Amino acid sequence: MDFQNTFEFAKKLDEQDPLKHFREMFYIPILFGKECIYFTGNSLGLQPKRTQDYVVDELEDWASLGVEGHLHARNPWLPYHEFFPKQLSKLVGSKENEVVVMNSLTVNLHLLMVSFYRPTKKRYKIICEAKAFPSDQYAFETQARYHGFDPAEAIIEVLPREGEFTLRTEDIISTIKKHGDNVALVLFGGVNYYTGQLFDMKSITSAAHEAGAYAGFDLAHAAGNVELQLHDWNVDFACWCSYKYLNSGPGGVAGVFIHEQHVANNELPRFAGWWGYTKETRFKMEKGFEPIPTAEGWQLSNAPVLSMATHKASLDIFEEAGMERLHAKRKLLAGYLHFILQDINDRQNEKALEIITPSDETERGCQVSMLMLKRGKEIFNELTKKGVLADWREPNVIRVAPVPLYNSFEDVWQFGNIIESILK
Ligand SMILES: *Cc1c(COP(=O)(O)O)cnc(C)c1O
Repeated sequence: MDFQNTFEFAKKLDEQDPLKHFREMFYIPILFGKECIYFTGNSLGLQPKRTQDYVVDELEDWASLGVEGHLHARNPWLPYHEFFPKQLSKLVGSKENEVVVMNSLTVNLHLLMVSFYRPTKKRYKIICEAKAFPSDQYAFETQARYHGFDPAEAIIEVLPREGEFTLRTEDIISTIKKHGDNVALVLFGGVNYYTGQLFDMKSITSAAHEAGAYAGFDLAHAAGNVELQLHDWNVDFACWCSYKYLNSGPGGVAGVFIHEQHVANNELPRFAGWWGYTKETRFKMEKGFEPIPTAEGWQLSNAPVLSMATHKASLDIFEEAGMERLHAKRKLLAGYLHFILQDINDRQNEKALEIITPSDETERGCQVSMLMLKRGKEIFNELTKKGVLADWREPNVIRVAPVPLYNSFEDVWQFGNIIESILK
């Protein structure tokens, strides 16, 4: 599409947007007396207006039913987690028996590493991206230590080439090949939180399998954002949180994918709890763990219904919007943002910023990361004063993410207009 950096053009795109009415389903935070330009849906997604009702329903049923709510609440609590696989499987490209909602993200990453990081003397290395999210780095490091390995030796980070910001798939694959039968696990983000780069999960998974290793992904910045086909790509496992693109509230309950070929494998070691136990006989409360032969077999505890209610509210909106329409709008929004930033940059005497997110739309999601070449922090603070909620990452990167459910093309144009006025 031939974009134009004008208010009229942005307005026209909004008018043609089949998802435009979804914005009204969300609370847009107020900054200095008016609705802000909310570009931090990659950090904490906005609250759907219906969320309160979903939570209040559970509080009411708890008040009126007490323990009986497990079976007789309008949405019975005992199988509450069973509401999710149908919808989630569309978001991540899985079968229903491959996904479960439980715990929080880093907890799940550890639980999955318990099953899929089984280092031996020879095969013990974890290949990951440099600048993985800190929580993931700490998980890798402490898992390596837990098994008696020196993290400095066990963890191999793939770095961008000199003068580049993002990773080349060929470099990821050659690193996996190079370490060959020393590799136990290849574990990448789906989308890197810092650069916004979307990794080629299919190729990375194949390369890991060729080396005889497992492939797992942290999809915190990918779930609800980019197209995923976890089952078809043969990904072994994945996990994600629900409070970023999935709009399920701070610290919300998280998601897990385990490929069908592993779900019934009782040989895989795991840390178990009663909620992973075969449903028919769970309440016999007997000794000897017998896992449910689906991803549910990794559950530990009974469902945290209040936080699952916020998740349900959000996933119902995703269902109504449809992933295809969301992906189409997401590509257009991010494309427009790239165009506008490039346009502003081109009109400066001296380049003001460098976009470090890939310009190829198959290598990115919503997020655009800008390396500020001068006055970065000052520009960021000025943005906040002018009603833009963006995100600052040391030393000099501003991350913005227009998300298709509630951001508009006008938001993108306004943002460009504000940046340009600050640069003047
Ligand atoms: C946001 C994020 C986390 C946060 O983990 P929590 O356990 O939810 O606090 C971890 N990893 C990645 C890649 C993230 O983007």
